[in-house]
Parts: sequence; C-alpha cells; structure tokens
Amino acid sequence: MPSSDALTPPVDRQNGRDGPAPRTHAVRPAPSPVPKAPARIETDYLIVGAGAAGLAFADALIAASDADVVLVDRRHGPGGHWNDAYPFVRLHQPSAYYGVNSRILGRDSIDSAGPNAGFYQRATAAEVCDYYQRVLEDLLASGQVRFFGMSDCAREGPDGHRFVSRLTGEATTVRVRRRVVDARYLETSIPATRIPSYRAEPGARLIPVNDLVRLAGSASGYTVIGSGKTAMDACLWLLDSGVPPEMIRWIRPRDAWLLDRAYQQPLDLVTWLIEGVSLSLEAAAQAEDVDDLFGRLEACGQLVRLDPAVEPTMYRCATASQDELASLRRIENVVRLGRVVHIAADGIVLEKGSTPTDTGQVHVDCSAAGLRIAPARPVFADGRITLQQVRTCQPAFNAALIGHVEASRHDDTEKNLLCPPNPYPDTATDWITTTCTAQRALTTWLGDADLSAWLERARLNAARGIGAHLADPRMKSALTRMFANAEPAITKLEALQAHAGPPDRGHQRTSATPIWR
Ligand SMILES: Cc1cc2nc3c(=O)[nH]c(=O)nc-3n(C[C@H](O)[C@H](O)[C@H](O)COP(=O)(O)OP(=O)(O)OC[C@H]3O[C@@H](n4cnc5c(N)ncnc54)[C@H](O)[C@@H]3O)c2cc1C
Repeated sequence: MPSSDALTPPVDRQNGRDGPAPRTHAVRPAPSPVPKAPARIETDYLIVGAGAAGLAFADALIAASDADVVLVDRRHGPGGHWNDAYPFVRLHQPSAYYGVNSRILGRDSIDSAGPNAGFYQRATAAEVCDYYQRVLEDLLASGQVRFFGMSDCAREGPDGHRFVSRLTGEATTVRVRRRVVDARYLETSIPATRIPSYRAEPGARLIPVNDLVRLAGSASGYTVIGSGKTAMDACLWLLDSGVPPEMIRWIRPRDAWLLDRAYQQPLDLVTWLIEGVSLSLEAAAQAEDVDDLFGRLEACGQLVRLDPAVEPTMYRCATASQDELASLRRIENVVRLGRVVHIAADGIVLEKGSTPTDTGQVHVDCSAAGLRIAPARPVFADGRITLQQVRTCQPAFNAALIGHVEASRHDDTEKNLLCPPNPYPDTATDWITTTCTAQRALTTWLGDADLSAWLERARLNAARGIGAHLADPRMKSALTRMFANAEPAITKLEALQAHAGPPDRGHQRTSATPIWR
C-alpha cells in the first residue's frame, strides 16, 4: 500500500507553515487497491531526485564509468524546481556553466542588447526545462540510465529501497549494488510548492509570485514580501512591466550582500571572474576584523548592497547587475519590521510592528527560502552519497564533481577529502565559512593531477580556460594576486570564523531532515 505521504503534492513543509496544504478540490477517497507484489529491479546507483543535482551527478558518473543507474523523481519529468518556477525567472548566472557537463545550454554567446548586454546569456525557466528534457534523453540513450517519474522514493525496507508510483500506487523494490544517491537533501524551496509561514485573512489578496503574470484588472499597489532573489525578480518584473516604483512596497525583513554579475563571467570574460576571486582573497588576507572584511569586499566590488545606509545581515549568493541594482533602488517604500506574521484586509502585522494595507493591494509571496540550509554531513558514507555544496552556490558543478570522484576513486576517506560538505550560506558571516571551505577544497583539487585535468575540461567549471588568457596583463596580475593571497586568506578566514558571533538566521535554517519524506 502506498503511504498517504506518497500521494500528496510536493509541498515544502519545512520552511513554511506546518500542516497539510490547503486543498482546492474535495477528493473522494480512492478504493483500496488490491495488494500486489512489488516489482523488483537491480541497479548500481539509485538516485533520488532528478533536479539539477541528480542529473549533473548521473551525467558525470556515466561519463567516467559503465555504472547502471536508476533515477527516480516524484515530479513527472527532469529539472526539479525549474518545472514550477515563476515564468519570468532566468538563471542568475550565465548558462555557459549551468546544467550538465556533456551538453551545452544555450549558445555560449554574449548578449549584445537588453538588460544583460555585455554578459553571457542566461536561460529562461522554459529553456532550462527543455534542456533537462534533452539531457534525460541523452542519459536514456546511453543505455546506462532508467528514469521513473511520478514516483516517490520511500524509506529503505527489509527487502531494499522502494519507490511508489504516484499514479497507480504500485511499488517497485530496488536492490542497490553500490550506492543510494540522495539528490534531494538540498531540495529547493520555492513559493509555488510551499505554504507561506504567515496567514492572509479573507479580503486580503495574497498570491504566489508565479501568479503575478495571471493578474487582470487594476491594483491599488503591489506589496512584495521577501528578502531574496525571487523578491528582486518580482520587483524588477513589475518595474519592467510599467508599474511605477511608487506603487511598489517591498517588505524586506533582512538586507542582503549580493554578488555583482560582472565578476561571474566565464570563457572569453573569465579574466573578470579570476580578478574577482583575487580581489576577494586579497580583501580576506588583509582584513583586520569581520567589519573590516566586509568593508574591503564592498570597496573592491566583490559584494554589493541595495541600500548603502543599511548593513546587510544576509548572504545567499544572489547575483545582480549594476543596472538591476539601479532599477531596484527606485523602490523607496521598503518595510523593515521583520517577517510578516499575518495579513488582514486593512493591515499587515509583522514581527516588529505593523503597516496599513487595503483590499486593492496585491501581496506577492516571495518568502520561500530557495536554497535549503541543511546541516553538513559526509558526502560519502554508509553506502550512501548525499549531494551537497563544495564550491559555494554551484550545485550543478558540485554534483558533477561528486559524480566524477565517485567513479574515479575507491576509498571513501579520500573521496570525502576531495568533497568536503559546505552548507549553503544564509547570514552575512556565512561568506567567511563558505569561502574558506571552498578555497581549501580548491587547493586540494589543484594538487591532484586527475582532478586538475577534469576541472579544465568540465563545462560546469566557471573558471575553465584560464590558459587561453595568460597573455592578458589583467589575467597575469589577477593570478599573481590570487596565488599570493590564497593561503594568507584561508588562515585569516579561519581566524575570523571564531569571531563572527552567533548567526542571525531569521528562522531560515531547517533542522536535520529524514533522508526520505
Ligand atoms: C529562482 C531560482 C533561481 C536559481 N538560479 C540559479 C542559478 O542561476 N545558478 C545556480 O547554480 N543555482 C540557481 N538556483 C539554485 C537551484 O536551487 C539550483 O540551481 C538547482 O536547480 C537545485 O537543484 P536540486 O537538484 O538540488 O534541487 P531540486 O530542483 O529541488 O530537485 C530535487 C528533486 O528531488 C525530488 N524529490 C524530493 N524528494 C523526493 C522523493 N522522496 N522521491 C522522489 N523524488 C524526490 C523533487 O521532486 C525534485 O525534483 C536557483 C534557484 C531558484 C529558486
């Protein structure tokens, strides 16, 4: 019998309100299916989750081995959260280093017009979903991979792992010869599949960000709720769609440090990226304390903020261009009274106060955490691989790295040394920890001939192709600064971690979650 959990939609109960999702239709209980013996299959690797991480892992694993793989997802197709993304979203980063190693996403070209002019193309959600469909077709064509969509993976039972079809309730038992790969440990939390942590009373208009494009008729104004990249995207979309900034109110519980997109460019513009890394390391090496560090990172353009008068307490790798920052600064009605507690027809109650509202106001929920903050655990342990971050905020790259390491090494201790878990950042001071761990890992990789060669050919590695730019004096100078500051920066960051103080996570850290839900 399928568990009742296997039949519910993929609603995130960890970052939002506890309890069941509101149902829009009455559901008549299904007649009990006649119990059937579960089907049985065998495989080398059972990958739970066919999002960006599961697919990048599978792609890298089969590129370096003849392993047999079973890929299971409760969604109907590959691509994870991108299937439910808001329609106007684009990658924050260039497409040139997103996806899987074996297939290019987009055309690796630099936009010549529009808001992204001068930077590498960034795919839309529709392009990302189409890409992942083709990736899945490639994987299936390899003969090494089988995919089971609309299937919920359940806890391991006495006879092996099992997944249950969300359509028929039929169970399949999987005997796993090598590893179970948890590619949902950092499952993305998005407004479309999550219940907000606050309530809206009857009469108050509250919509998930996805529904902005479905609005018809006029509104007295728009209240965007959230501190992160989704809220920034919603504000930019409203502005680009002709809504005057005075009609937009932004409830921003925390201000964030952001990354400047100019320094996230690969390939022909990789000199910018290396220059950015070298400036960050120099700032870290020279910092006298935590405040001085952030002052230096801002002064050299590696961290940017929306409001120079407000000290950011958050850092979640959100990336913006200078043009986007200029647009967003046109919104002057920013409410900083903590998180929303509830929305009534005439007022919004927040943690630290209240602000009026009205029934013509559209409240746009952008409060989902996006990146899931979960405790670090060994990537390779006990017959299991838990896909996590190593290089900061590069989930596709990290999953491919782990896939390659799994295929090419035999000892878990060595594998864990090459892939130290590095939880997603949340607070400003997480910049210190995540940079330190990523930098240490990079030093280890560069001392390993096989991994150095892999890094140079991996399209998911944003820093590949440096060799083609060695004649550029800017690249030379950046590399000199980078190598001179790498070790001093790591040493200083380790010292600063101890002084960073307790993090203000604004309730966003999730507790340890069971492997299967
Ligand atoms: C708006 C937005 C923009 C972003 N832009 C970028 C970007 O530019 N660059 C970047 O690197 N990152 C970006 N990210 C981060 C993004 O989260 C990652 O890039 C990536 O898509 C995460 O993939 P994932 O596989 O870890 O998680 P998900 O996409 O959440 O995939 C996990 C999958 O596991 C499945 N699953 C969970 N539990 C089970 C179960 N029990 N049984 C079966 N299946 C299960 C889920 O259905 C889901 O499909 C962005 C995120 C958001 C929200």
